[in-house]
Amino acid sequence: MRIILLLLPSLFLIFPGGHAQSKKSSYQYNMDLTKVTDDKLQVELTAPKVTKEEIIFSFPKMVPGTYAIEDYGRFISDFHALDKKGADLPVQKINDNEWKISKASRLFKIRYRVEDSYDSKLPGPSIFQPAGTNIEEGKNFVINTEGFFGYFQDLKDTEFDVTIIHDKGFYGSTGLVAEKTGEPVPTLPSEKNPPSSDRRMDRFKVENYDRLVDSPLMYAKPDTAIINVGNTEVLIASYSPNAKVNAKQIANTVKDVLMAQKEYLGGKLPVDKYAFIFYFTDLPVTSYGALEHSYSSFYYMPETTIDEMEQQMRDFVAHEFFHIMTPLTIHSEQIQNFNFNAPEMSKHLWLYEGVTEYFAGNVQVQYGLITPDQYLEISKFTLDQYKDQYYNVYQKGALIGLCLDLKLRSLSQGKYGMRNLILDLSKKFGKTHAFRDDLLFDEITALTYPEINEFLKRYVGGAERLPLKEMLGLAGVTYIPEKTVRELSLGLTNKAIGVKEINGKQMLTVTNLGALDIQGKVLNFQADDALVKMNGEDLPPLGPELGNFFGRQKASLAEGKMLSYTVLRKNDAGELKEVELKAPVEKIEIKQAHLLSFDETTDAEKLLVRKSWLTASQ
Ligand SMILES: [Zn+2]
Repeated sequence: MRIILLLLPSLFLIFPGGHAQSKKSSYQYNMDLTKVTDDKLQVELTAPKVTKEEIIFSFPKMVPGTYAIEDYGRFISDFHALDKKGADLPVQKINDNEWKISKASRLFKIRYRVEDSYDSKLPGPSIFQPAGTNIEEGKNFVINTEGFFGYFQDLKDTEFDVTIIHDKGFYGSTGLVAEKTGEPVPTLPSEKNPPSSDRRMDRFKVENYDRLVDSPLMYAKPDTAIINVGNTEVLIASYSPNAKVNAKQIANTVKDVLMAQKEYLGGKLPVDKYAFIFYFTDLPVTSYGALEHSYSSFYYMPETTIDEMEQQMRDFVAHEFFHIMTPLTIHSEQIQNFNFNAPEMSKHLWLYEGVTEYFAGNVQVQYGLITPDQYLEISKFTLDQYKDQYYNVYQKGALIGLCLDLKLRSLSQGKYGMRNLILDLSKKFGKTHAFRDDLLFDEITALTYPEINEFLKRYVGGAERLPLKEMLGLAGVTYIPEKTVRELSLGLTNKAIGVKEINGKQMLTVTNLGALDIQGKVLNFQADDALVKMNGEDLPPLGPELGNFFGRQKASLAEGKMLSYTVLRKNDAGELKEVELKAPVEKIEIKQAHLLSFDETTDAEKLLVRKSWLTASQ
């Protein structure tokens, strides 16, 4: 508090006439969550001062981190630009995201209605839920700000002042530091229905549109927990519609991961405050995920108990949290000056997503949260997924991170790894200082070794396959790309099954008969068989429970015992009927890919590399 007093005199020196200043030019947004009509919310903007006669008001086509088109303007309706007297100014909608306003120097307010993306049936790309919006009257509001608040082209770097009115029993979880929270709502003379005493008002102020988009909020009945990680106050907020999981349980699950991440990042986190915001859905999901921000991350996950999601939750949290380094601290110009309506891509997703993913695993083994053997399992999983196009950016990037880490540790006799490189890059660049996309390899080489330049050019910039065997060998890890073994099998392979909607329900379905193994062929699956039961047990709903279920079933296989499935299959009349498939379990030849093991006879030099890779440095 004393600091504020010390600053006051100098403020007056800089702004001697500060008190006499005219109304500051800022965006002043207002949204009342207690007034939902037709699943929509009204947003009102008191516009910043516009001097031009024509101006374009935009919603983003894309936001950072998603690498996908969103077209948030699709969700906007009843768009009005008004002058001081409340008269409409001419407005022309140019495309999904942009409105051209004429006589703009007279512009006073903009008013429109917003529909949420979570349950929308609007045409166009579906929005990745962690970047989406939710309006669930009286229950939950997911406010990814880019879905509710627009900006004027050329006026992106102006202050935004956002007021959110909410039910007294609701709490707004966000990484933003509020100007005010829980204020009573003043009665406006113009208001027909004076506000009830059950409403409260929160006010947030941010310096520009980038920061606004970087700051999601979630309003719901409070379910929060706080963890202190060093000097950083970490908020955990949860919305679980059936109370299957709560913020306290999440906090207990992720606390040691966050502590380890702090150490991994040199003992201090680069932020004072951070929020993990979780929205759990009880609808069947085919995909879920999370999106990173500078001071928060947002999670959209299937609602299950904490035990069901434990390790996945820890991996998710570790991944999103490490994004505070890449790309939020270390990034290229394309990300620094993100163009929301004509986005330009950086070439370095391997760094932003891949290295982040690599760190999320490496921190856990280094700090003893998983064993080296479990870590090899995770690496095997990464290798398995690497072949799959969908995961390429993440998995190939994570493998680049792994290879670079091992190469660096080998060249430095265990003294310098990827973690050191990222810390050095963050010192050299940082939040406000971007690197040039084309110069990243040179920057990395300047901090490390000429051999690293060669590696980056061949395997990251070029198309050569990663030298995984050679790199893993540097740490005495034996890598066998493929081997045939005789094993018991459930008959189904990942490639043989997919998700299809059957009778309005998303179900696991046999989609590729050719990818069944011999056991599966003996069971006589047919195309489009939807799985209902396995050995008499109902399949759990789609989500993380499935993995555990199949794991348990696999473990219970015994040679000679019967393996059975109940599937839904169309009969000749086209009706879906349950059919039982049965076959005795037999050992079959299975091709195993990506076998990793520690070579215990390796030399001292490689053991040193392994030690520095798998254990925390002092
Ligand atoms: Zn990520």
